[in-house]
Amino acid sequence: MKTTFLCHYSEIGLKKGNRNYFERILEQNIRKSIERALPESEFSIHLDYKRFIIDFKEQVEEERVGTALHRVFGIVNYACVRKTNLELSEIEQAAVELISAKEGKTFAIRTKRADKAFPLNSNEVNVRVGAKVVEATGKSVDLTIPEITCHIEIMKQGALVYVDKIQGPGGLPVNSSGKVLVLLSGGFDSPVAAFYAMKRGAKCSFIHFHSYPYTNKFSQEKVIDLAKKLNEYQFKSRLYMVPFAETQEEIVFNCPDRLRVILYRRFMMRIAERLARRKDLKAVVTGESLGQVASQTLENIAAIEEAITLPVLRPLVGMDKNEIIQVARKIGTYEISVKPHDDACTRFMPRQPETRAKLEKVLEAEKSLDVEDLVEKAFQSIEILEI
Ligand code: ATP
Ligand code: MG
Repeated sequence: MKTTFLCHYSEIGLKKGNRNYFERILEQNIRKSIERALPESEFSIHLDYKRFIIDFKEQVEEERVGTALHRVFGIVNYACVRKTNLELSEIEQAAVELISAKEGKTFAIRTKRADKAFPLNSNEVNVRVGAKVVEATGKSVDLTIPEITCHIEIMKQGALVYVDKIQGPGGLPVNSSGKVLVLLSGGFDSPVAAFYAMKRGAKCSFIHFHSYPYTNKFSQEKVIDLAKKLNEYQFKSRLYMVPFAETQEEIVFNCPDRLRVILYRRFMMRIAERLARRKDLKAVVTGESLGQVASQTLENIAAIEEAITLPVLRPLVGMDKNEIIQVARKIGTYEISVKPHDDACTRFMPRQPETRAKLEKVLEAEKSLDVEDLVEKAFQSIEILEI
């Protein structure tokens, strides 16, 4: 039997007459994700009454399709379905087979009629098919908490019948909201921040600041692995590697200890902004939360953000560390982030970093630096990796 999948998408963002736009991007993303997970398969996708129907030319492993669809933001749920003609007897037979194959004594039939030309309305289909299932399987109907739910969707070309509806990742299709630049460190937080930016439809490029030769090459490889992992949701990305040691040395030699971390961050922001403006990336994303570490105070956040005018998105702002770690485990970045890491910032860490930076003091400290020259030099030495 040929495999068919059905995907429902979310309604969010689709209200202003831009549904076609979202649908087109979502379809492309579904296609790419399946092509990657099942490169040998042949399939077609078509859109029907706000649903995507994926028809494979042959039978394929359901689990692999599920894995592929699970990584496509915008899908709210999906299912492997039986396709039948618009004949009640065929629909009944499919429902009987699917329900009898499941454990459980109670069931409900839930019909949606996208094609109103079908002679029976949804409720009539529920009743007729339900009666047939009772007769054929001995199971009983429970409309409140059924052990098995059988969905029937009546479309123009045929009916779709299924019992296992799987929750998708939700969100908006990657690339439907524009492009952003994620400040990706080797830690736990920034990959999760990238995940949430992608979930809201942003296509992410990544920028990493390293202090090579003070830090080892392994730390850069770790960041490459993180970017590869995150690519599962967006297929292709760019990682910009910025040599940052020289900027850090200038800060260490010329500015007060306590302000170092704030100053590093201000330079990271400036370099990121310069790159973002050239590449038409519309916001900077960081893994900062609020109050998570002593440095993530509102005062410090303000002093850092003041260096640029591009919007700074912080998807993790309301999350606890353990929630972040849970997501990191779920998306598979945890195993990479947990490896030892030689961070650009910890390398030149002051003994007592400032926790409530005063902007005037920060600006005063920066006067002893040639800001423009440092930013431009770092910018010119960026290495681009296609992931
Ligand atoms: P993470 O787990 O993402 O490293 P963190 O809790 O360790 O976050 P900080 O080290 O204070 O927090 O960094 C805050 C944010 O600044 C990071 O989430 C990341 O977005 C950015 N950042 C920090 N260091 C770097 C770096 N070397 N390269 C790129 N971005 C960085
Ligand atoms: Mg960090």
